Parts: sequence; structure tokens; C-alpha cells
Amino acid sequence: MPSCDLLFTNATLIDGTGATRRTGALAVTDGRIVALGDCSGWQAARTVDATGHVLAPGFIDVHTHDDSALLSTPAMAAKTSQGVTSVIAGNCGISIAPLTPTHGLPQPLMLLGEVSDYRFPSVADYRRALEASPPSVNVGLLVGHSTLRAGAMTDTTRAATAEEIEAMAAMLDQALSDGGLGMSTGLSYPASRAAPTAEVVALARVTARHPGAIYTTHMRSERDQVIEAVGETLEIGREAALPVVISHHKCIGRKNFGKTTVTLSLIDKALATQDVSLDVYPYTASSTVLLPEFVGEAERIIVTSSQPYPEQARRDLSAIAADWNVSLEEAAARLGPATAIYFQMDEGDLRRVLSHPRTMIGSDGIPGPYPHPRLWGSFPRVLGHYARELGLLTLEDAVRRMTSLPASVFGLPGRGVLEVGYAADLVLFDPEQVIDRADYTQPCEPSAGIEAVYVNGVQVWGPDGATGAAAGQFLRH
Ligand SMILES: [Zn+2]
Repeated sequence: MPSCDLLFTNATLIDGTGATRRTGALAVTDGRIVALGDCSGWQAARTVDATGHVLAPGFIDVHTHDDSALLSTPAMAAKTSQGVTSVIAGNCGISIAPLTPTHGLPQPLMLLGEVSDYRFPSVADYRRALEASPPSVNVGLLVGHSTLRAGAMTDTTRAATAEEIEAMAAMLDQALSDGGLGMSTGLSYPASRAAPTAEVVALARVTARHPGAIYTTHMRSERDQVIEAVGETLEIGREAALPVVISHHKCIGRKNFGKTTVTLSLIDKALATQDVSLDVYPYTASSTVLLPEFVGEAERIIVTSSQPYPEQARRDLSAIAADWNVSLEEAAARLGPATAIYFQMDEGDLRRVLSHPRTMIGSDGIPGPYPHPRLWGSFPRVLGHYARELGLLTLEDAVRRMTSLPASVFGLPGRGVLEVGYAADLVLFDPEQVIDRADYTQPCEPSAGIEAVYVNGVQVWGPDGATGAAAGQFLRH
């Protein structure tokens, strides 16, 4: 009689491919799925009756800024409580490695921590730190272009010279050999906005030498020039023959609402000849560093942290500006370095992006004491609000965007599908109850309906919360 470590019986299996759910069992041994479907006759050290619950591959959060949090809060409850079993760090051009800063931190590198948090001269050093004290989730890392610039340039407010590009190319090549999944850029931020397309193409060509590597981008504009920015992104992908991922696709500011009809049709046309994907978080407010040049289009801004004025966190920028009798821009300048939540996107654009077949889910959460609710709520919000309540997606399609699609885009073999031989990254949830509970006033509330979460066969979330099990692995191609 076959035996296993863990057996789920009577589960509603949603396998991650988009295929229709079916009822069945799933057996796990040594962190892998060993049987699926009919497991009658199997003996198990532990059996979970999953009647009425969905068993799906654990979710892959493709857009995170968890680089430091994985080491400082290894239980990663913000993620495991949503059913997330793998995170991709190093997005938006900023990765914690490879960099030991000697000239301070150009913005937005503070999103990942202080100068002292940047202590990994190589991706291999960061990987070893994670392997020495594994977090509860698996980790993949993108290599950030702004991080490379901060390491190779004393002044990041200009284009890199040929020598600096060569230095960045060498660092990037090593970082990708050390396990980086690809390169990310953040071309709208101070650290990289002076980089011309040619600089990015040069580094994208280095990336393309590594099989399976990709290019992800927080584009040069998500505002008035968003259409041109999509054009630049597609051009970089074509020039370097590299798959591209457009990060947190959005159109900021009322006069840009609706432009996703244009950007998505550009992407659809490009898909005939090149590999393009997107990610999105399911909210119409964004969150990032607070900069004077970012305040113009927002209808409301909540300050979430300020180094010189920590007591102003959780207040509206307009109230702070009124107290100080200054403009919003001036208040933003005085509060910096700071972070904020900006209410500035359109629900129609969000739904259009979320429905695109190449769109994955990425929380884009910025860990901290007063985060945007997306840090804790993104995945259950898609499952509960957008799939169940609004019917925008089938549950199977929503799960596909969180599992098999990101596993194939980021090149994570053996994950993202319920299949024999695959890693036992699993989430058990109640399809009628699953919903986000984090909001703008209580942003750190765990979601409802996520019953149990397993990473490499080890339980990391359950009825008593995070288990803290050191189950995660470093993911590479
Ligand atoms: Zn970004």
C-alpha cells in the first residue's frame, strides 16, 4: 500500500493551468506532490479532509519589495496569510544586491531599507544569507538597474558613460550567474530616469545571454507619456530579444484614465512577434516614495512614513500642508525621505488590465508599519472581490494568473501547477469566504478564508496564524 507524508482528501482541485476544477485527493512526500486525483488506498502520516475547500498551487507574488523583509521578518505573515508561497523581489529597478553603497542611496532605494541594509556585494551573498536563515516563502530575485547604477556611478542623475555601462554589465552578468531571474528597471525614478533607452538595451542584451532571463519594468511614465513608455518597453524587448513584463500597469491621473484601451491593444499587437506579460495589484491607489513631482495628479495622498517627521505618518498630505501653510509640493519636499499612498487611478483601467490574459498578480507591497493594504490583501481581493463578487474572472482563471502563468514567465520549473513531481507549494482556501480584510485604515489585517498554506510540503500558515517554518528555497532557473 503506497504511503505519503500528507494526504488531502475530497478537495476541490484547481490545478493552476486554468482547467475546470475537479474533486479529488492529493498526496505529498518529501516536499513534492506524489499522487493526484484518486488516492484511495494511500496511507498517510497526516490526512486533511478538504471537503468544501479549494486546493490550489501556492500563489506566486511576482511583484514585491520584500528583499529586506525576508531576512528581518522571515515568517512573512503578510504573504503566507494570502496563500502566497513564493515572492519575486528586486522589482522596480531596486534590488538589495549587488550593492554596498558608498555614496548614499538615490531614490527610491530607501524603499528597501537604510544604507546598512544594503550589505550584499553579490547576489550569491544574499542567496547565502537566505539559505542560512530561510524565510517561510520561496524567493526569486530580479537584479535592479537602479541598484547597479548606485554601485557603478557617483552621480545617478545623468546617463551612464560607456565605462559605467561596462561596469554595470559585469555586475549584472555575475548577478544573473548567481541566480538572478532577470533585470528590473524603474525608469520614472530619480536613480534611473536619466538613463537613455540605449543604456537599458545594452544591459538587456547582457540579460538575454542568460537562458530564461526576463526584463521587468516600472516604466518611464505611467502618466501623460504612458503610451510612449509602453512603446519603449516593447522596443527594449525586441532589441535585446528578451521577454518583457510591464510592472503594475496603470494610467495615473484623470486625464489619462481609459488609456489602457490603447496600451493593451499595443501589447496585443506586439504579442504576435514578442513575449510580453503584465502584472497588476487590485487597487486604484498606488504607493511609493513621496516626491514633489508625484503629487500633481493624485486626488488624495496619505503619508505612510517620513524620516524627519515620523509623527505625520497616517495623515493626509493636504492636512499637513494646511497646518504648515505650504503647497502640497513643499510639504512633500519637507517630509522626505518619505513614503505615501496616492489615490489616482481608474477602476475601469484596473479591471481592463486585470482581465488581460497575460496579466499576473503582484502585490507591490512595501513592508512597513503602515503599508498600503495591497501588502496584506492583494490575492484574496482578486479571488473574493474580482472573481467571486464581480465575476470579472473565473476562479480557475484567477488562480492561473497567480500560479502557472508566473511560473512560466519567470522560469520557475516544477512550480505553479498541481502535478506529480512538482513542489508541494499549496494553498487550501474556502471559495465562498475568501476575501481581503486589510484596508486603508487597518492595513495589516490577515484575509479571511485562507485555511492552510504549505511551502515545499511544510505548513507555513494555518488557523493559528503563521507557523514561522523555515520552508522557503531560493528560486533560480
Ligand atoms: Zn514600481
